[in-house]
Amino acid sequence: MPTTAISLPPTPKRAHYDAIIVGARCAGASTALLLARAGLRVLAIERRPYGSDTLSTHALMRPAVLQLSRWGLLKPLLKTGTPLIETTTFHYGDEEITIPLNGGPGLPGLIAPRRTVLDRMLVDAARKAGAEFLHDVAVGDLFADTRGRVRGVETRGAGRAPLRVSADVVIGADGIGSLVAKCCDAQVLRSGTVSAAHVYGYAPVEPGAGYHWYFRDGIAGSLIPTNEGLACIVASVPTKLFDERFRLGHGRARMEVLEALSPALAEKASRAPKDARLQAFRGVPGYIRHAHGPGWALVGDAGFFRDPITSHGIADALRDAESLARAILAGSEAAFATWQQERDLFAHQVLDTTDAIADFDWSLADIGERHRRFSAVMKAEVQALAAHPMPVRRALSAMSGLTAYRAPAKEDEPPAMAGSSLYRNRTGARP
Ligand SMILES: Cc1cc2nc3c(=O)[nH]c(=O)nc-3n(C[C@H](O)[C@H](O)[C@H](O)COP(=O)(O)OP(=O)(O)OC[C@H]3O[C@@H](n4cnc5c(N)ncnc54)[C@H](O)[C@@H]3O)c2cc1C
Repeated sequence: MPTTAISLPPTPKRAHYDAIIVGARCAGASTALLLARAGLRVLAIERRPYGSDTLSTHALMRPAVLQLSRWGLLKPLLKTGTPLIETTTFHYGDEEITIPLNGGPGLPGLIAPRRTVLDRMLVDAARKAGAEFLHDVAVGDLFADTRGRVRGVETRGAGRAPLRVSADVVIGADGIGSLVAKCCDAQVLRSGTVSAAHVYGYAPVEPGAGYHWYFRDGIAGSLIPTNEGLACIVASVPTKLFDERFRLGHGRARMEVLEALSPALAEKASRAPKDARLQAFRGVPGYIRHAHGPGWALVGDAGFFRDPITSHGIADALRDAESLARAILAGSEAAFATWQQERDLFAHQVLDTTDAIADFDWSLADIGERHRRFSAVMKAEVQALAAHPMPVRRALSAMSGLTAYRAPAKEDEPPAMAGSSLYRNRTGARP
């Protein structure tokens, strides 16, 4: 995998930005990319190192690949050696259904890039567009004015003094444990009731392999070709079963699940080096959080989480990043409300259809129908994405009477630094 040496600035170049984004993976880096391309001054802060890995099984669905194609990143991702996936096969017990994936010029197939490749490419593209990134720096708190409007963040980094940076809007792209959501008391609008565990590792796979999704009563699995000639091979079970069966060792329990799904899949998994590490995610029920308030917004998993079993989290993150960028550029509270309505429209459908699969309360006779319902949601999503204009540059928006988002001026309280309060005093939240 090619690496690019990038020198990162140790501290922000400015004291004030149009937007500060907490978290710089698929939601945060995408939002930074789109806002920077539109001419805004953007700072993204990420506590993990540049190019680092994270929990993910990598499979991108149609809406995500369409977004990357629209943003000019699909070809560069293919150039890194990310294989183009041209078929997807559902294994329902012993029955196999293979579907070709070519959906036209914008969608030649699907891809499953490693997060070390995808997240880094989004960061690089956003930097190229002018966004600033601080890696290895955590946001420790937000600060607000006396009316409670978020005015900026306080950073913490190893060997660095805490630093306050202000912005017109602070965007929480900080994942499941979102500090921004905690600080802003973002209301949970809906909580899912089911969760599944996913245990995965990597093994060599033949070139040209497609996606494979396996289902038998009470268990599921997948084979997802990714970079470097490897496939991510996943065993998925209800969290309750994970707690019972995986307690004594992930390796053996995963192999038992893969063997039960398909001996051929287990054989492929056994080609991994003996000392290869496995990754495990115990599962978290889905949720939808209120996504915006005075001076703040949430995007990606920070605002909406669904079980990974439908491989749709990255698609949600990219879709919501684009519509949030549009709302920020439109520059009104009404635009944020419309953005959330759009997000919720898809979030509820994605959560409904994902939980209908993650609940494992299906039989081989009806799981196919649940997949068709999920696929219909993605079809509607792709149509909606294709119909939307890209977020416009400031010069163009000014011509059309729109202006970039600005926090309302406060006559009684100029710069946010003065008279502002730290949220942790109120919430006790920690990064
Ligand atoms: C096991 C597993 C498998 C998955 N497989 C798939 C799949 O195959 N396909 C798919 O589409 N989706 C998949 N997903 C879902 C997908 O990974 C997420 O939806 C996606 O990563 C969300 O992106 P995000 O940018 O919102 O959040 P994240 O990727 O979680 O990134 C949030 C970032 O914020 C940073 N951060 C948090 N707090 C702070 C702070 N205080 N200061 C600075 N930085 C901070 C974190 O370090 C992190 O890097 C999977 C998820 C899991 C758990």
